[in-house]
Amino acid sequence: MSPETEKTGILLRGGRIIDPALGLDEQGDVLVKAGRIAAVGANLEPYGAEVFSARGLIICPGLVDMHVHLRSPGDEHKEDIASGSAAAAAGGFTALACEPNTRPPLDSGMMVKQLVQKVGLEAIVPVCVKGCLTIAGRGEEVVDVGEMKACGATALSNDGEPIEDAGVMKRGLAECRRHTLIPTIHAEAGGGIPLQGDSHCREPALVAREIFLAAKERAPIHFSHISTREAAEAIYDAKKKGLAVTAEATPHHIALCGEDAPVGDANFKMNPPLRSPADREALQKAVVEGVIDCIATDHAPHAPEEKSVGFTAAPFGVIGLETALGVVLTALYHSGLMSLGGVITAMSARPRAILGLPEVRLAEGFPADLTVFDADAQWSVEPERFRSKSRNSPFAGKTLKGRATATMTAGRWVMKDGEILDSISQKSIL
Ligand SMILES: [Zn+2]
Repeated sequence: MSPETEKTGILLRGGRIIDPALGLDEQGDVLVKAGRIAAVGANLEPYGAEVFSARGLIICPGLVDMHVHLRSPGDEHKEDIASGSAAAAAGGFTALACEPNTRPPLDSGMMVKQLVQKVGLEAIVPVCVKGCLTIAGRGEEVVDVGEMKACGATALSNDGEPIEDAGVMKRGLAECRRHTLIPTIHAEAGGGIPLQGDSHCREPALVAREIFLAAKERAPIHFSHISTREAAEAIYDAKKKGLAVTAEATPHHIALCGEDAPVGDANFKMNPPLRSPADREALQKAVVEGVIDCIATDHAPHAPEEKSVGFTAAPFGVIGLETALGVVLTALYHSGLMSLGGVITAMSARPRAILGLPEVRLAEGFPADLTVFDADAQWSVEPERFRSKSRNSPFAGKTLKGRATATMTAGRWVMKDGEILDSISQKSIL
């Protein structure tokens, strides 16, 4: 973008402006200049700015996905930084955090630093890099947490393999607390191949253990992709006790249950697996009530030839960046369970706060990281049209209601009407 355009800015005109943190829900305009919000109000003068008609659309603080597998380094045939971050922009996300279970795993400060540099060059939206909590992600030895933080890690994760040894987990939590880095913990089945439903007891048991350890260390902890009623209950109890526990749920666990999966379709194979209708209902309720703080996709791309080898042999994981907003709006907002403001909070302010990112408010002076979406647009999911390199979506062929129209980071459009506008890196404001 030329400095000239930057100088004149963008006026988003006539949208429904929703920022739950400000108690704001009104029709009006947002004026963006030099990467920041210059004014919010009615009938603003463009003063030479590009005018974008937001009539019938919602303008909200930019969505953030705190759980994404970008597959780089090592598996760029499934996804890479450019394709994954373009998928994020297309889905309305203004930032994402990527998981460290790459090949090789991101278990040293140097590796984190390299990826931070690479995403700075190749990503279309800002990317926060998570590091491994243990060496090689094997759950045996805690990494040098201070070094990981110094090299730019935003959080530490045990994605891929659970940490079996309670002593290791306890040390990991203590170290994260010491260096104020949030651990994002996968309390999921390990050791063998869990089939649909097999890990039902394992998740609540691990969540209960980790809450106990975190309480002992007075350490904050975040749980990735909670999928069972019992785990949600354990998190509810922990929050009631005042513990610093947060959690996320995926759009697919909120919208689907095991019964929805066609027999043998590996595009419904993920970890944790789809659960019972009672679990799905409990999860929905937990998200609506804020017991589960936020939505995160666990976007896990796999190439078609890897997913089409039969259910048992296929790898775990489904993509989600380009369907998340539509799935969540369909399952929670259009069903009448949750307000638009509630959905926006769970997909923007909360993941930002958990990751420790700067606040984005629809008010003068804040960074212009915005999502514009049509809450009522009906569309049918066609994975062939995705920006992601992979196609493994359990929502293929489904009709969703609600879709991102435009995505802006640091005052510049990265996606408008489905088109990706900037293939080179944005100046990160993270
Ligand atoms: Zn994951």
